[in-house]
Amino acid sequence: MSLKNEVVEKLSEIIGNENVITSDEAIRIADPRMVRPYAKAFDYKPEHVPLCIAKVSETGQVSGILKYCNENDIHVIVKTGASSSEDQLLVVDDRTIYLDAAPMDKILEINTENMTVTMQCGVALAVIEGKVNSMGYTLGHAPQSLPLASMGGLVATRSIGQFSTFYGGIEDLVCGMEGVLPNGEVFRIRPVPRRAVGPDLRHLIIGAEGVIAVMTEVTVKLFAWYPELMWKGGYTLKDFETGLALVREIMTKGYKPAVARVYDKVDVDHHYGSVRLEENEAFAFFSVDGPGAVPDVHGAAVHEIALKYGAKYIGTKAVDHWFENRNKNCDTIGTETEYKKFRETKVCEFPIEISSSWDEIGDIYQEIKATVPERIPNIAVFGGHVSHCYVNGTNIYFVASLKIDDPDNAHEEQYSVMDAICDVVLKHKNATIVHHHGVGKSRVRRIKEELGSSYPLLAALKNTFDPNGIMNPGCLIPLG
Ligand SMILES: Cc1cc2nc3c(=O)[nH]c(=O)nc-3n(C[C@H](O)[C@H](O)[C@H](O)COP(=O)(O)OP(=O)(O)OC[C@H]3O[C@@H](n4cnc5c(N)ncnc54)[C@H](O)[C@@H]3O)c2cc1C
Repeated sequence: MSLKNEVVEKLSEIIGNENVITSDEAIRIADPRMVRPYAKAFDYKPEHVPLCIAKVSETGQVSGILKYCNENDIHVIVKTGASSSEDQLLVVDDRTIYLDAAPMDKILEINTENMTVTMQCGVALAVIEGKVNSMGYTLGHAPQSLPLASMGGLVATRSIGQFSTFYGGIEDLVCGMEGVLPNGEVFRIRPVPRRAVGPDLRHLIIGAEGVIAVMTEVTVKLFAWYPELMWKGGYTLKDFETGLALVREIMTKGYKPAVARVYDKVDVDHHYGSVRLEENEAFAFFSVDGPGAVPDVHGAAVHEIALKYGAKYIGTKAVDHWFENRNKNCDTIGTETEYKKFRETKVCEFPIEISSSWDEIGDIYQEIKATVPERIPNIAVFGGHVSHCYVNGTNIYFVASLKIDDPDNAHEEQYSVMDAICDVVLKHKNATIVHHHGVGKSRVRRIKEELGSSYPLLAALKNTFDPNGIMNPGCLIPLG
């Protein structure tokens, strides 16, 4: 019997054959939209495809499948929303199944006394956020991929939302979880407000990109939501560096706007038709969340600091435009509309997000902007913006538009931009090559340099929990 038939027969015993997708056509259609989107526009055929897709709806099924796969050297890539952008879901061999946990979509409890929501890992963020919004609450987690992503992937990629400067990243929001280890064992981490019982075990799973365990259930925090009280303001600035100094002062003085963004001119010209900047100028905008007078009080402070840095107030029109359109590209990304654009323009746009301390971020930005287009002559547009700020530093989200003539070479060309950016970042003491998209199978080629002397800790964790190496091979930890 072929390996595929063997696996399908066994999985059908565990979850029923109606839940095991086997036909080549069905597997092709279910291919995650973010795996090699540019190449796909040009009729790309993946080198490896999954043996089948196993659709699971309860923890016992996940446990049964993992136990079988672990004992039979079958590799497992779990997916939920399939919007991850660093090749996390790329299949790299011929003995892999997709464990599709999207059907695990039950909301188990919305607890407005404890301010928590407990749900299965396949719950779509848009569904749960819409539900709690209608009750006057928010999860405080709003990545640009909100219309696409689900809870499992959001936790597993250590994702961050657009209002993170106030609410934090997913690591600040997850209180507890249930998961299954590769040997089929089920574990629970209770959702307490805080505990001091050894290392924080949630962090074995948050950001582990499905290489250690499958998270089946998660409990996250809930916040009161006051959208009608939000304060907003937009500004033009002398240059991007002034924007960095301005957000640094806002953060280090102790103010916490929910949105704090600074765009360089290239990024503004490319993405914001409505804002006109002179050469070198930058665009910044802020919003403040909170109850009662909080938004106006903090907003007034943000405004005062902005004026101190010579900012010109331009009102809220451009900010409103951003709020209305902030998730719009999810409508077309990885669809025939986008593929058509790729074929017409032969230009592919992709982001690379890094972060660093305040004392290094300005130099990193300058060096990347100066050296990357020199090294990669087919970069058509190369802009950047700040979008997630902390008391000790900030991220920069670079957006590269790359002219790609040979679609078969598209991902290597993208990797070359990534490498050029990583080369600059890795020279610095307090900087990281990944702020929020995860490592996947793209930035994994630089992970040993990134983690340095702490890399063996990550490798040891992987070996301890997944000694047979069945969980998403090549993701987060290099192959071989
Ligand atoms: C247009 C667009 C905008 C984006 N904007 C943002 C943004 O603002 N902020 C941000 O952080 N990211 C962003 N991303 C990246 C992506 O949306 C996030 O990484 C998201 O968290 C992925 O969630 P998902 O449900 O789609 O996960 P998937 O793609 O299904 O999976 C992602 C990873 O998590 C693992 N995984 C999935 N489910 C589980 C589980 N139950 N247990 C264990 N591991 C699991 C998978 O194996 C994989 O490694 C964006 C992506 C796109 C395409």
